[in-house]
Amino acid sequence: MSAVQVKPPEGDAIDWSQLDLAAPTPEHAMLAETLRSFVEREVEPQALAADRDEEFNRELFAKAGELGFLGVTLPEEYGGAGLDATAAVQVSEILSTSDPAFALSVLAHSYLFAQNVSVNGSEAQKREFLPPSASGEWIGGLCMTEPGVGTDVLSMSTTATRDGDHYRITGRKTFITNGGVGGDETGDAFIVYAATAPREISSFLVRKGTPGFGLGQKWGDKLGMRASFTAELVFDEVPVPVANLMGKPGDGTLHMMRNLELERLVLAAQSVGIAQRCIEVMLAYSGDRKAFGKPIRSFGQVQRHIAEAFAEYRAARAFVYDVARRIDLTKSGQRVDADATKLFASQVAKRAADSAIQVLGGYGYMGEYVVSRLWRDAKLIEIGGGTLEAHHKNLVNELGKNPAAIRA
Ligand SMILES: Cc1cc2nc3c(=O)[nH]c(=O)nc-3n(C[C@H](O)[C@H](O)[C@H](O)COP(=O)(O)OP(=O)(O)OC[C@H]3O[C@@H](n4cnc5c(N)ncnc54)[C@H](O)[C@@H]3O)c2cc1C
Repeated sequence: MSAVQVKPPEGDAIDWSQLDLAAPTPEHAMLAETLRSFVEREVEPQALAADRDEEFNRELFAKAGELGFLGVTLPEEYGGAGLDATAAVQVSEILSTSDPAFALSVLAHSYLFAQNVSVNGSEAQKREFLPPSASGEWIGGLCMTEPGVGTDVLSMSTTATRDGDHYRITGRKTFITNGGVGGDETGDAFIVYAATAPREISSFLVRKGTPGFGLGQKWGDKLGMRASFTAELVFDEVPVPVANLMGKPGDGTLHMMRNLELERLVLAAQSVGIAQRCIEVMLAYSGDRKAFGKPIRSFGQVQRHIAEAFAEYRAARAFVYDVARRIDLTKSGQRVDADATKLFASQVAKRAADSAIQVLGGYGYMGEYVVSRLWRDAKLIEIGGGTLEAHHKNLVNELGKNPAAIRA
């Protein structure tokens, strides 16, 4: 059997061995560098206190906007950088090496809200909502989950009823990241999924201050991601202009499915960032810490923690960036891989954080050594944006319909 020869066209040869999936172009390389310096100068110094005080850092968010980190995937004409899913993954990964909760607020704002408007909104909606989102002047979020409905999202009970040139939205959404920004103030703008008929989901843009719209329960004392603001939002016959319906009635399901692919990928990228930091911490500590006259890094059981975490992290990182390379932000079609990245990476991060605590012994249990916070933060990614069990269900359903996807 002869080997298949694949030759690039003459004069257009690419040296694949030099390709860095995590920074494939000079723009990506520059983004990664500026993100790392932002993390070192601005994010890391506040991360411990923000977690302890359970405070969303509005000022830091504004700085992220000034530096262009909130609009990396948004078109340039609306103030974004016009980059791709790889850039979104870079933002999520690098911020999460320091403060996954801050990264979660950025994720909800930039990808669940702004990128969703960018793909699914009308020209007028993009002009109104994207520039203040890219700059960080506004803080946005996405309202899907309800007190009685999470995974079974199509059974939502929030309704939107047509009333002349408005819809009236009634219901409650909970666990909404950026639902509040501090005190009793809501975030500035939200995409709200609501039923316009039984199992007909539509997407609406709702602005802060609309009558009947307000903050319900503020979820304090979360296990992790404590520096992100999680809240219930209440809708009491909220009048939303027909002009704020995204697409047509019933388009919400498509918007949701398309956006969930990106959401799962960027959450997986958060896990990769968490795992990276945990490995760095346990490697350094185990070189310094001595027991029985030797650095603990010389003990096989400690080596196993570091080596296993490193191998899994490497695999997760390559997987996440490979899927990012293939995702077209304007279409759906990577559902299996998006679910699989989060299914895998979320567990890798939790195991890496657990190993890091173990390697640091008693110090690992103490907040100032960072890894206990990362362990708490890592757990969220097994739940938010789809639970592990939801990924199992989606993956097997999709693979069952299209077994060829296994080889794709
Ligand atoms: C910190 C935080 C931030 C969040 N941010 C947002 C946000 O910004 N916007 C938003 O809309 N939501 C947000 N969420 C909500 C999150 O997406 C949901 O919590 C998640 O989708 C799970 O829904 P649920 O909590 O209602 O759990 P449920 O769906 O009630 O699930 C409970 C358990 O049942 C299992 N289960 C359910 N169905 C099945 C099934 N068919 N097969 C097997 N097992 C099943 C689940 O896997 C889980 O173990 C956030 C959550 C948290 C904790």
